[in-house]
Amino acid sequence: MHSSCLQYCIDLPLEKEVLTETVEKAKDWALMHGISMRSKEHFTKDNVQIAPFLLLPTSFPKQEFEKAIQVQKILNKLMHIVAHDYDFLKKTLASTIAVDEFSAKLFHIYETVHAEGLAQDISIGLLRSDYMLHGIEDSKIKQIELNTIASSFAGIATRVTQFHRYILTELEHSDKLINVPENNAVSGLCAGLIEAWKLYNNEKAVILFVVENVTHNICDQRFHEFEIRRQNPKIRIIRKNLTEIISQAQLGPDKELIIGNNVISVVYFRSGYTPNDYPTEREWSARLLIERSRAMKCPTIHYHLAGTKKVQQALAQPGALDHFIKDGSIARQVQEIFTGLYSLDFNEYGDQAIDMALAEPRKFVLKPQREGGGNNVYDENIRTQLNSMKESKERTAWILMDRIYPPLQKNYIIRPGDMNNCEVQDFTCELGIYGIIIGNAKEIKVNKQVGHVLRTKPATATEGGVVMGIGALDSPYLV
Ligand code: ADP
Ligand code: MG
Ligand code: MG
Repeated sequence: MHSSCLQYCIDLPLEKEVLTETVEKAKDWALMHGISMRSKEHFTKDNVQIAPFLLLPTSFPKQEFEKAIQVQKILNKLMHIVAHDYDFLKKTLASTIAVDEFSAKLFHIYETVHAEGLAQDISIGLLRSDYMLHGIEDSKIKQIELNTIASSFAGIATRVTQFHRYILTELEHSDKLINVPENNAVSGLCAGLIEAWKLYNNEKAVILFVVENVTHNICDQRFHEFEIRRQNPKIRIIRKNLTEIISQAQLGPDKELIIGNNVISVVYFRSGYTPNDYPTEREWSARLLIERSRAMKCPTIHYHLAGTKKVQQALAQPGALDHFIKDGSIARQVQEIFTGLYSLDFNEYGDQAIDMALAEPRKFVLKPQREGGGNNVYDENIRTQLNSMKESKERTAWILMDRIYPPLQKNYIIRPGDMNNCEVQDFTCELGIYGIIIGNAKEIKVNKQVGHVLRTKPATATEGGVVMGIGALDSPYLV
């Protein structure tokens, strides 16, 4: 791995006294403005603690940032079209659902509502397309994945941008603020949910947040809730997990989703993307009930499936985009941000991919059909995993991807607890761009790019889950 050639916003290290004072101030600012989450170790609903964040914004090439911003509406539309292509989803996911029970159950819900006819034909996407920088001298963005369900951190990211503007000013670098782009991610995403609420056209109907049994990332979720209420105080929000939903929800005569006295206009999933969210068949029935209802869903089951890694891999195959994007120059723009993705299906291409990865595992990442971090396989473990499954059908549930080694950049990470342990370290970052899209098979009603987040992790970590405490929230300093 190599150090970045990108210019930093401030020369490091900071002088010791300045650092100590700045870190203390930063922690208090973070707590007072909601750069916070609930502790994993000592969970209680009475407390939050700071979410890990970077003291200074991390440098990011301006041109590549702008490219990511510019391509977002194209990706939104692409996802929308892919999600509405039943034949493509069925063909692409066939080998995966044959062996992966979780994907199969999602697909089964899709088949069910597709056969019955959709009670609500409009889908809402709050998407986040993630990128890392590839190449040292002349770094280019490469897409890591595109999330169509529970795209998180827009709430906290908005605050982190404000924090970095504050801290640069405190350090007497206010001339640099121009390089920290404005970020209104949370208001943009919430405007999408409000737009959907309006389309439902029932002033009394509420928005349902489908949440985990235990929510660590509470501030991010509440930022969304409070922002919706700020933009439109008429809209009430309720929070339920899938287990509560199955015992409390029912469909009305016109397939309205009803919980207690509330008709639900919009269902916003902040859970439901991992097998853990479905401990029993009852939670699966809850997902099906929601899908069968007339409520608007963020996402619908077909949007969820369009965001799987298998679909991402299929879209990256030479020529695949031409089917969905008729303008060749736009298709090439999208292709350019993709990196190598390989199917492990039972055929000669799958065999070739496996041989390639066995020969040089460090050049690849092995990914199952899972979300939420911590599921991918790296380095020598790729050999172990591939050797254990290469003769079995199980391998078709996985995809292989070229591994990106982004440039290293120096910064300070601030975590709860380690006040005295703040030293300059090497990090790599991942940029996420948020988009909203609303529409049905015939028409796209809303398509926007609405903001960004940077997540940064120590150079030594393969994955940077922020909720898991490895990665940290950050914002880009454009150079
Ligand atoms: P998830 O849906 O679990 O977030 P991702 O595909 O985003 O799955 O992978 C999780 C993390 O793994 C990313 O945030 C990134 O840190 C790392 N990662 C994923 N793909 C690559 C890659 N091709 N090269 C390097 N790191 C990767
Ligand atoms: Mg990810
Ligand atoms: Mg994901």
